[in-house]
Amino acid sequence: MSALPPLGASLPWMRAAQQALSRAVEADRLAHAVLLQVPRGAGGEWLARWCAARVLCRAATLRPCGECLDCRRVAADQHPDCLVVQPIEDSKEIRIDQVREAIAGLALSSHGGARKVAILAPAERLNRNAANSLLKTLEEPTRGTLLLLVAEAPGKLPATVRSRCTRVVVPAPGRAATLEWLAAHSTARVDWPAVLAAVGDRPLAALEADPAAAAQLAAEVQSSLDAAGTGQLDLVATAERWSRDGYAQRLDCIENWITERVRAAARHGGRAPEMRAGAHLPGAGVALNIRALFEALDLVREARGLAESTVNKSLVLERLLWRLLDPGERAGRHPGRADRAGNRDLTP
Ligand SMILES: [Zn+2]
Repeated sequence: MSALPPLGASLPWMRAAQQALSRAVEADRLAHAVLLQVPRGAGGEWLARWCAARVLCRAATLRPCGECLDCRRVAADQHPDCLVVQPIEDSKEIRIDQVREAIAGLALSSHGGARKVAILAPAERLNRNAANSLLKTLEEPTRGTLLLLVAEAPGKLPATVRSRCTRVVVPAPGRAATLEWLAAHSTARVDWPAVLAAVGDRPLAALEADPAAAAQLAAEVQSSLDAAGTGQLDLVATAERWSRDGYAQRLDCIENWITERVRAAARHGGRAPEMRAGAHLPGAGVALNIRALFEALDLVREARGLAESTVNKSLVLERLLWRLLDPGERAGRHPGRADRAGNRDLTP
């Protein structure tokens, strides 16, 4: 949490959520289980800690003070009344023993006399047994406890868990608001648009990124994608290399590259008259219509979902790169490995 804003802060894209949570705490009607739905990189875990501090800080007014011992302990994950449950290092899941331990902790009386809080983040990582174990607590909560579930995609949670939580939704911050906030928040001289080309409109992810490395990666991916459109990229070799080096970060860069083109297409009434993978915006040429771009975005999301799996990521990336070629190019010039393998599934 070192690079992150202090818990006394109010983040513009979270203001409505922060106000709603604060008013509920003030009126002592905050539900015992709250699902914080926050876009990736926009501060879901920060908001959960903010909410915990709002409950535990004895100097809180409409927001936690951010400076007292309670606030500092919550920010450092060292508050005895605030348990944080995350996938253990190297584990991709939140496991049942972790949830059981948290539930047992919640049953103990609080040190400070206020509520006991447990943060589960990302809640999508709860495995099935862990979710089932949590369900009992959601159905029969211990008095004075607060469960904060952080999720980017609540649809991935079991409906039984989802339905027992009060949901607070934080909207995506958007490019302009993200840039404005980063410029105001950070004293460092950073080329934020270049960083956002790598991480997307994700203000807290941008803050935590190494600016030079992020900008370099984005530029490299961008020039490769431009080259793909003119048939000058070895798709197989590129996919292979990207699958081994910075897979997730490169997917963010690709998503950005596509999103930029979707925005440009939208400015042209959805017809994408000048869209072409091989041209800088506004480029010349034909081909990448808005439908192809949205299909490619779907593929990026699918590819990201496979990041933790054992699926052959090189093939996944190759399929994605193919989708970013114009149809003429796809028809003949780049017989991909997928085709050679005769794998219909992976043929665009
Ligand atoms: Zn405080």
